[in-house]
Amino acid sequence: MIFRIIKKEDLARLHELLAVNIVVGPVLKGYDREGRPLHDFDRVYDFAELALDYRLTVHSAKRFVLPYRETLANFKVEGAGWQKEVPSGSDTPLVLFGLHPCDINALNKLDLVLARSVYPNPVYVEKRKKLFIIGLDCAPAPQCFCRSMGADIALHGFDLFLTDLGNRYFVEVLSAAAYGLLDQIAGREPSGKEHRLYKQITTEKRKRFTTSVDTTDLTKILDLEFGSPAWAHWGDRCLSCGTCANVCPTCYCYGVEEHIDLTLKKADKTRSLHSCNLVDFAKVAGGHNFRPESATRLKYRYYHKHRGFVEAFEESLCVGCGRCGIACLADITPPEVIKSVRGEE
Ligand code: SF4
Ligand code: SF4
Repeated sequence: MIFRIIKKEDLARLHELLAVNIVVGPVLKGYDREGRPLHDFDRVYDFAELALDYRLTVHSAKRFVLPYRETLANFKVEGAGWQKEVPSGSDTPLVLFGLHPCDINALNKLDLVLARSVYPNPVYVEKRKKLFIIGLDCAPAPQCFCRSMGADIALHGFDLFLTDLGNRYFVEVLSAAAYGLLDQIAGREPSGKEHRLYKQITTEKRKRFTTSVDTTDLTKILDLEFGSPAWAHWGDRCLSCGTCANVCPTCYCYGVEEHIDLTLKKADKTRSLHSCNLVDFAKVAGGHNFRPESATRLKYRYYHKHRGFVEAFEESLCVGCGRCGIACLADITPPEVIKSVRGEE
C-alpha cells in the first residue's frame, strides 16, 4: 500500500477529476424530530453537495450495485417464438465517494456471495468491475458496533481511503487507477510525524465506541440456544415489515418474478430484494409457509447472518453499522437480541 498526504482543498479537485463518471456520495436529506441531520447516499453533481461530515446514512450505498428491483430479461413474441433480450447496464463507471469502513466491508461481504461464489451474479460482477471507491474515516455513532464485528477498519475493497488529519488528509492508495488519479493532484509522502498522528487517530477512534456485542463463540451459542425463549420474546415484537433488510448493507436475499402482458406478446423477468422477516418469505408453491411465525423468521435472519454465513465464509454477514436497530419500529437491535440469546439479559 502507498500513503500520501493531500490538502483538504484538493478533495474538490479529486471530485472534479472523477465527475465524468457517475458519482454517488453522502448527501444531507433533512432532519429528524430531534433536529438531527439525516443523510443518505445519492448521486452528486457538485462537490458542495457532499456531506463528508456525516456519521451514518439511513441506507447504505448497496442499492447502487444491487438495486432493490432490476429487470433480468425482456421477452417478446417474434414470428413463431419468443425472443429474449437481456438489458445491458450502464458503461459509465460508478464512483462511491466517502464510504465508511463498515460499508466498504459490507461490499466485500456481498462480493463473497455475488462475485466470488460458485454461482456469481453476472450483473453484479459487471457493476463491481466498474466501481471506484473512496473510503473515509468516521466517528462512531452511538448505535455503531462495527468494532465488535471486525468491520471498523477497511483493509481492502477500496481504491483510496481518506483519514482526516485536521487541515489535510492521510490517503491510503490501493489501486493503480487511484495512484494515477493522485498523480494529477499535488500530493506528497507523509512524514514520520504524520504516520504517528494517523496511528494515534485510529487508536483513539477505537476508544469512542459506546455499543458492543460479545461475538465470542457466537456460532456455538446460537446452536445451543436454538430453542431459547429469547427468540419468541423478540420475534413476537417484530412487525414483519422488512425495514431491517431494506436498510442493511449486507442483506442480499431476493425473489424472481415473471410478468406476462395481457396480450400474451410481451413478458419480463425481474429480481427484487426480499427480506426473510416478510410473511411470505418462506411461502412455496401450493401455499405452504415454512416459517409462518414472526419469531421463526427473525431467528432465521440472525442464524443466516451469524451462523450460516460464518460456516460458509468464516465471517459474519453483519458489519455492525447499527442501521437496522435505528430503523426498526419495534426497537429490535442486534446488540440486545444477541445479549439476550446469550442469556446476559
Ligand atoms: S425492522 Fe424490526 S419490526 Fe421490521 S421486520 Fe425488521 S426486526 Fe421486524
Ligand atoms: S444486520 Fe443491522 S447492524 Fe448488521 S449490517 Fe445489517 S443493518 Fe448493519
